Amino acid sequence: MAQILDGIRVRDEILDELRPRIAALPRRPGLAVVLVGSDAASEVYVGSKVKTCASLGLVSEKITRPGSITTAELLALVDSLNANEAIDGILVQMPLPRHIDAQQVLERIAPEKDVDGFHPVNVGRLSIGLPGPRPCTPNGVMQLLRRAGIDVAGKRAVVVGRSDIVGKPMAMLLLHAHATVTICHSRTVDLAAECQRADILVGAIGRPAFLTAEHIRPGAVVIDVGINRLTERHLVEGIWRNDGIALAEFDRKGKILVGDTHPLDAPALAGAWTPVPGGVGPLTIAMLMTNTVEAAERRQGC
Ligand code: NDP
Repeated sequence: MAQILDGIRVRDEILDELRPRIAALPRRPGLAVVLVGSDAASEVYVGSKVKTCASLGLVSEKITRPGSITTAELLALVDSLNANEAIDGILVQMPLPRHIDAQQVLERIAPEKDVDGFHPVNVGRLSIGLPGPRPCTPNGVMQLLRRAGIDVAGKRAVVVGRSDIVGKPMAMLLLHAHATVTICHSRTVDLAAECQRADILVGAIGRPAFLTAEHIRPGAVVIDVGINRLTERHLVEGIWRNDGIALAEFDRKGKILVGDTHPLDAPALAGAWTPVPGGVGPLTIAMLMTNTVEAAERRQGC
């Protein structure tokens, strides 16, 4: 049975380490979170970011705007937050409504306040190994590996997924940690063969239980970034193969979360793995808080 990489424990550790750094700052760090429209999932994410800020003593400003806002109006809001001395970090919750030019909005955020690490300047800094805010989810994965004592140097890492927010920065962080990195995607020929070579396999795909026994080399470290919500019982039955605990949870809640790796195959085959929920997910907010504190430290000359 695989070692479970416990994201909740590591998240709490990281947040506890931030407390004295926050207390040492002349001014409390400020995070502005911009929420456009009324996407239910985005509201939940923004709510938990604001709650975590409060628990750490960070000042958070939640700014809501109707889905009808124009790109120009959103850019003007970002400009005002860029100019606001009390704000160290700016996060515009994605996805934005389709009529908004999301890339233009992201590029308008001052790079020193870009706590998501998505600004092209910060993507460039990551690429050439300069300090700067790193995208939260892949950086959380690196923390999880480091704190579990998993040495990445020289290992073969396979990242499945090449998005700008997870797959690509994940690959870059692993490369900087001296892994030999392969990036796979929907056009990869023989995905299973590529994955079977992995000492460290990262699934960042967005497809429920997609990586199964045929993809997982016995003993590999399996990192599951995927968060997929299942609401149909036959899908749950298909994945969990009559596992009573999962079906009972589904029957109680009417939904269940599953990652991109198979929830039975991964723990049976891997040397270590991140469960869903409770693995990578909790790290994302911890790293957002870290980026905000680091932005505040830089801006306050600490
Ligand atoms: P995207 O949809 O942006 O990217 C998905 C990637 O998976 C693409 O590169 C795509 O390839 C690849 N892919 C899709 N189908 C296949 C396939 N059949 N074989 C191989 N590769 C495939 O997703 P994100 O990167 O934004 O998110 C990935 C997952 O991570 C999602 O489940 C998301 O919910 C979760 N997530 C979790 C976070 C957390 O806090 N834990 C934070 C962010 C995301 P191609 O480029 O060729 O289309």
